[in-house]
Formats: sequence, C-alpha cells, structure tokens
Amino acid sequence: MERKNIFPVFDRLTSREDKEALLKQRGLAIWMYGLSGSGKTTVAIELEHKLFQKGFICQLLDADNVRTTINNDLGFSLHDREENIRRVAELNKLFIQNGVIVINCFISPTNSIRKMAAEIIGKKDFVEVFFNTPIEICNQRDPKGLYKKAMTGDIEEFTGVSSPFEMPDNPEMEIRTDISTVDECAQKIIDHILPKIEIK
Ligand code: ADP
Repeated sequence: MERKNIFPVFDRLTSREDKEALLKQRGLAIWMYGLSGSGKTTVAIELEHKLFQKGFICQLLDADNVRTTINNDLGFSLHDREENIRRVAELNKLFIQNGVIVINCFISPTNSIRKMAAEIIGKKDFVEVFFNTPIEICNQRDPKGLYKKAMTGDIEEFTGVSSPFEMPDNPEMEIRTDISTVDECAQKIIDHILPKIEIK
C-alpha cells in the first residue's frame, strides 16, 4: 500500500513522559488471556475499581466491546482473531502514549497471537497475565451459555471446543480463579503492576 504521502505528527506533540507526569501514573498494557469463562472480565472490573480507588485511570478493553464496534467486521477464523488482536494492540499503544493503563481481556488463543501483541505494544509496556482456569470449570460456569451452544454446534470455532487454545510455556503471571476469590485475583495483579505504574 502507498504510504509515502503520509506525514505523522507524533514527534511534534506533548511527550508521553510529560503526560505521565501530569497524570502521576505510567502507561501500561495488562494483557489478560485465557478461555472464555476463565474470569478475565470479572477480575478486570474489580481491578479497574481498585486501581481507580488508588488514583489510577484505566481503560478496559474486552472482546465484546471491540467486536461490536471497531472490529465488527471480524469473525473467529485464526486470521480474524489475529487481526482482532493486532488492532487492539495498536489501540493499546495510543492509550499508553497518553499515560493510560489498559486492562485487556482477550482469549488470545495462540502463542503467536500473544507474541504479536507484546511486540506491537513493546515488551517493556506489556504485562502478560494467564487465566489458567481448567476448561471443565469454564464449562460449568458458562456465564453466557456459549459452551452449551458450542457443544451442540450452534457456535462454530469456539475456543477450547472447536478451535484451539495453546497453553503458554512460561507466563509472566498466572491467575487461578478456580481457587482464589475475585478480590484476591485482582490484588495479586495490583501487587505485580504497582511498581510499573507508580510515579513517586
Ligand atoms: P471471561 O471474561 O474470561 O470470559 P467472565 O468474567 O465473563 O470470564 O466469566 C467468569 C464467570 O466465573 C463469572 O460468571 C464469574 O462470576 C464466575 N467466577 C466465579 N469465581 C470467580 C473468580 N474467583 N474470579 C472470576 N470469576 C469468577
């Protein structure tokens, strides 16, 4: 695609450092991934509230809000899942450039999709949080009735049932919503990220 007539102005705008100093926080992407029903959104909401109480501004991005808006042209093939995450990663960069903490809730089913997100955002601004909830528990919870529909074939390409989920080898952080409360899970993430977002 022809790009030679495009002139970005980013280098002429207020710097990220100046914006972070104004907000008294550092921008960061918290990348929460795992099966549907593993607890990402539930913990993300608690995390957002807890961080706000501590004076931090966050933006929550999850599959349902991007797939009904900016990514409403995408389906669930591996290609579209990759494109979904590529666009979300680019959105993260914009927020981070403005000193905002982004809480992401995306299944992100493959190692290569997760690697792409980390590379677009930049590893120093990326915290990877794996929601390691056994599929049997996700299936039992089935908060949106999706596993039931996937089992009967009413939904195609459903992660864990008819579309693959690759377990990560060595995740930076692991959350177990099957053995810890929502509050404990959110607190564990806060303990890990506070040194990265605080400006003293
Ligand atoms: P995801 O965003 O990963 O698809 P959701 O947060 O939408 O998952 O659904 C998780 C379901 O599990 C919710 O119905 C939630 O109430 C329930 N749940 C039970 N215990 C926990 C826990 N400790 N942490 C998060 N969710 C939990």
